[in-house]
Amino acid sequence: MTKLQDQREKHWEAFVGRCQACRACELSESRQNVVVWRGGIRAPLVILGEGPGADEDRLGLPFVGRSGKLLDQLLTSFGFDAGDYHIANIVKCRPPGNRVPTEEEARACRPLLKEQLRLVRPTVYLLMGATAHRYFMGSSTGITQARGIWTESNNCHILPTFHPAYVLRDPSKRTFLWQDIAAVRQKLEELDLIEKLKA
Ligand code: SF4
Repeated sequence: MTKLQDQREKHWEAFVGRCQACRACELSESRQNVVVWRGGIRAPLVILGEGPGADEDRLGLPFVGRSGKLLDQLLTSFGFDAGDYHIANIVKCRPPGNRVPTEEEARACRPLLKEQLRLVRPTVYLLMGATAHRYFMGSSTGITQARGIWTESNNCHILPTFHPAYVLRDPSKRTFLWQDIAAVRQKLEELDLIEKLKA
């Protein structure tokens, strides 16, 4: 391990420690675990969801329930390795009963998310679902209108898409999620941030 990698890991561990100690909003009262990330700690792609559900809260990892399985299947079928992406959520603690996080909770968690993104340094973002889109972009446009449309901001490329849980409830939306993951793959290849898939 190089000195730089070693330093990066230390910064990351310190950041995770701050997350685990966080009591900045009332979601800390009912959580089992603070759910920070899975995937690479430095990655060209950040996949951002809404917040942990019951499985995520229990295991301390994001997207590990049914939605996570669908997401993983998709990522694997599009040739992504775990080091290519970093999966996180708008809030790191589970909203009771899987309700949508409130604006106050999202605001309370934002400094940690900002710090996380500063450490991960992604260039491409995939926002999964209406809540991630609304809180990350500060946009009131519905996800059905917003999905599949790239936004560029501060040299980053941001694509909203449907949440896998929504696609599981309404399989007619599958094709859109597939198209959006393909578009993310293509963008990363165009930017030389990931190796081109062999034909
Ligand atoms: S949701 Fe975020 S701000 Fe609220 S307690 Fe958890 S880590 Fe802290």
